[in-house]
Amino acid sequence: MAAKEKFAEPTYLECGFGELEYKVIKSEICCRCGTCEAFCPRIEHVENKPALVNYDPLCGLCFTYCPRTFLDMGAMETKLFGRTRNATEALGIYKKAVSAQAKPIVAGAQDGGVASALLVQALQSGVIDCAVVTDRDEEWRTVAKVVTSAEEISASAGTKYTISNSVDAVRVALEKGYKKIGFVGTPCQIQGLRKVKLLDEPYQFGQDRIALLVGLFCMENFDYEALMNGLVKARFGLAPKDVARFEIKKGMFRVIDKTGKAHEVKIEETDAFTFPGCGPCFDFASELADISVGSVGSGDGWSTVLTRTDVGEKLYAVALAKGAVSEKPVSEKGLALAGRLAAGKVKRFESKCALMNVSGIIR
Ligand SMILES: Cc1cc2nc3c(=O)[nH]c(=O)nc-3n(C[C@H](O)[C@H](O)[C@H](O)COP(=O)(O)OP(=O)(O)OC[C@H]3O[C@@H](n4cnc5c(N)ncnc54)[C@H](O)[C@@H]3O)c2cc1C
Ligand code: SF4
Ligand code: SF4
Repeated sequence: MAAKEKFAEPTYLECGFGELEYKVIKSEICCRCGTCEAFCPRIEHVENKPALVNYDPLCGLCFTYCPRTFLDMGAMETKLFGRTRNATEALGIYKKAVSAQAKPIVAGAQDGGVASALLVQALQSGVIDCAVVTDRDEEWRTVAKVVTSAEEISASAGTKYTISNSVDAVRVALEKGYKKIGFVGTPCQIQGLRKVKLLDEPYQFGQDRIALLVGLFCMENFDYEALMNGLVKARFGLAPKDVARFEIKKGMFRVIDKTGKAHEVKIEETDAFTFPGCGPCFDFASELADISVGSVGSGDGWSTVLTRTDVGEKLYAVALAKGAVSEKPVSEKGLALAGRLAAGKVKRFESKCALMNVSGIIR
């Protein structure tokens, strides 16, 4: 019996990798989140993109969970929060917004180190039994990994401004038998995992073992080769292994080398290195995460934190009570700036959708 006959809903069953490839990968709206690779044993990461390596039974799984095939935010918000956002909620639905900082400070953290501190707290309090993080090698190539200690989480701190199929490492965590998996990542990666957790599907492959989603703010991300060759090498004369840190601050993209020297260009000058799949992306603040962490809105060395779900709210409260983070009020001005960036991203999404002929993603 065909899947469509067996399961009245969803109707996208029998859309297989061919449809995913046509609608998302070949049309360059794929954000390389790794969700399709994580949950289908027939899809692997080949030459930096998802590829079918076995016959396709048209189960619909990859098409269903991909954040770029279809995404109805209203429906997702209703399932997750019990309501849809109102017009003033530019950063999505959240319970509490604060500026926070990890205690003690996490060496190598991008901002306040709160993303790392929350994962450590979640591990120590039993909310998760492993964390999927995105580390890097000497050349700044991303390396997604499954970690189980505070030391490993801290060692993976810091932003890598290049696309990473990090969700694929959730597959490794599932294969290793972890039962409470924590994940930290970009809004698109969170969208993929939230779809996996929320959509009513006939498949059970362990999605209930994904216990915590820590989302990052994200305006855009970059292609590794384009960024390293076009900016780091060609413009700054640096080898990737000479870079100590990348950061985006006050409209500048900055590369700090290992001697401590800063090299910078205006963010507009990095457009050529942006990953094409970031175009049709509306989500600045990881609106479907349990808790979101970003830099905009708070001062140097601090993170802006938005608790969204009960899971996120409780984890943050425990981290605060145990002294793993300290907090101060986030300024109205800071939150308004984050809101303006989020609104700007939605505008860019709308124009890119028209340009790239994107359908099915409803903000
Ligand atoms: C591509 C990208 C773009 C961003 N753009 C913005 C922005 O426009 N505005 C803003 O306010 N904040 C942005 N951020 C978030 C910001 O850079 C920090 O990650 C955030 O403030 C958390 O800081 P922290 O010190 O608490 O995190 P840390 O404690 O340093 O932990 C950071 C975590 O991020 C994860 N990570 C790093 N790189 C990647 C990656 N490429 N993919 C998935 N996960 C990754 C690591 O696993 C690490 O655990 C961006 C992050 C990324 C990855
Ligand atoms: S966006 Fe993610 S899930 Fe969709 S095709 Fe690309 S890697 Fe796969
Ligand atoms: S801009 Fe969007 S698609 Fe690109 S990395 Fe950030 S969240 Fe993902």
